Amino acid sequence: MLERTVSDNELTAWDRDHFFHPSTHMAQHARGETPNRIIKGAEGVYITDRNGKRSLDAFAGLYCVNVGYGRTKITDAIAAQAAELPYYHAYVGHGSEPSIRLAKMVIDRAPQGMSRVFFGLGGSDANETNIKLVWYVNNVLKRPEKKKIISRWRGYHGSGLMSGSLTGLSAFHNLFDLPFSQVVHTEAPYYYRRPDRSQSEEQFAQHCADKLEELIQVEGPDTIAAFIGEPVLGTGGIVPPPKTYWDKIQAVLAKYDILLIVDEVITGFGRLGTMFGSDHYGIKPDLITIAKGLTSAYAPLSGVIVSEKVWRILEQGSDEFGAIGHGWTYSSHPLCAAAGVANLELVDEMGLVENARTVGAYFRQGLTDALGAHAHVGEVRGEGLLAAVEFVKDRHDRVFFDASEKVGPRVVAALLENGVIARAMPQGDIMGFAPPLCLTRQEADVVVAAAAKAVKSVLG
Ligand code: PLP
Repeated sequence: MLERTVSDNELTAWDRDHFFHPSTHMAQHARGETPNRIIKGAEGVYITDRNGKRSLDAFAGLYCVNVGYGRTKITDAIAAQAAELPYYHAYVGHGSEPSIRLAKMVIDRAPQGMSRVFFGLGGSDANETNIKLVWYVNNVLKRPEKKKIISRWRGYHGSGLMSGSLTGLSAFHNLFDLPFSQVVHTEAPYYYRRPDRSQSEEQFAQHCADKLEELIQVEGPDTIAAFIGEPVLGTGGIVPPPKTYWDKIQAVLAKYDILLIVDEVITGFGRLGTMFGSDHYGIKPDLITIAKGLTSAYAPLSGVIVSEKVWRILEQGSDEFGAIGHGWTYSSHPLCAAAGVANLELVDEMGLVENARTVGAYFRQGLTDALGAHAHVGEVRGEGLLAAVEFVKDRHDRVFFDASEKVGPRVVAALLENGVIARAMPQGDIMGFAPPLCLTRQEADVVVAAAAKAVKSVLG
């Protein structure tokens, strides 16, 4: 408890001296060479820092504050739960009303064929759970060799040991001795960066499916347990799949009896304008990862949604081997579950899935109109309320900027000066948007105008 008011200078000094920030240049931050920003409050789609500067948060924190900030329905639910029962564990059949209610609400909203929800804290730990379940299943089925996982380059699945291995971005592997040898990566479904520019979307999708099949053959079909992918690549560049991609990938997986884990940490609960990305693209998952939009980040909560098919094998396993040796102290924490229940009710009450669809289309059209013809814009893309603008040196010959020019980060910094937060995606010069799903058309106009101004100031 701070017993006196802390001055800005003092807080900044403590921040530089004691706070180890995630995904931050540690030395520069400690030396005070990079800006720090202390956020104090937020309302709707706006955040306010300690100096009183307001910014429109067009990335919803980290694509997670889907209902927007300041929703008292959720904060009241957390407070009421804290007063009634702040914590009890969920081991050995225990539970609390909000955890059970939330499990039911998730299954009611999930794609067909889903059965149970295992709750964790964040997307990374949920993906650790997924891989443990896949390995458990193949041990129960007496297929001990079938354990490798195929992920995609540019996929993002977290930054733990296994989840970081699944991630297909080099910054999350380098110096950490990752990825683990049980994980192999295949082609990213990134149509704009396709190697052969003469290919149609369908042809490129077939190329991705062929590459997947080739990899399965090289590794040995009997060694591949599961494939994991996000419906739309997120942190890898905000890239919707080429047409027919998921149909073609699922056909390959079915041929070799490979389980499908769909990572819906970003796309779950409305971001694409449908409740789940799986419904959006006709995907039939065996396991689904959820987090972010489950509570709109009002409290940390993730989940693995288990299909009926996988659940039956898990039941068989516990009949043969006893209770499952997996769980966290905070699995289905009552405060987080209470936040989840109130949040999902709010998503329905505010019509946010529909809003993501309609305002998303309006927003992406606005970005296309404002920036689509710019000499240094290679592509404007997205789905629902996910959007990206990719910058190139030469749009005709698709020549990319050298990373050292930091074009993406410079545009995003200029945008912040204009009062709007976007994200410079980590690999490529890509300005990403994932605003709260409550974004209005007027707020979308503000983002588009500020983005156009920022691009002009950096790239002319
Ligand atoms: N999966 C996806 C698709 C994500 O976007 C993220 C985070 O951005 C994660 C997993 C990891 O979630 P967390 O950061 O909560 O561990």
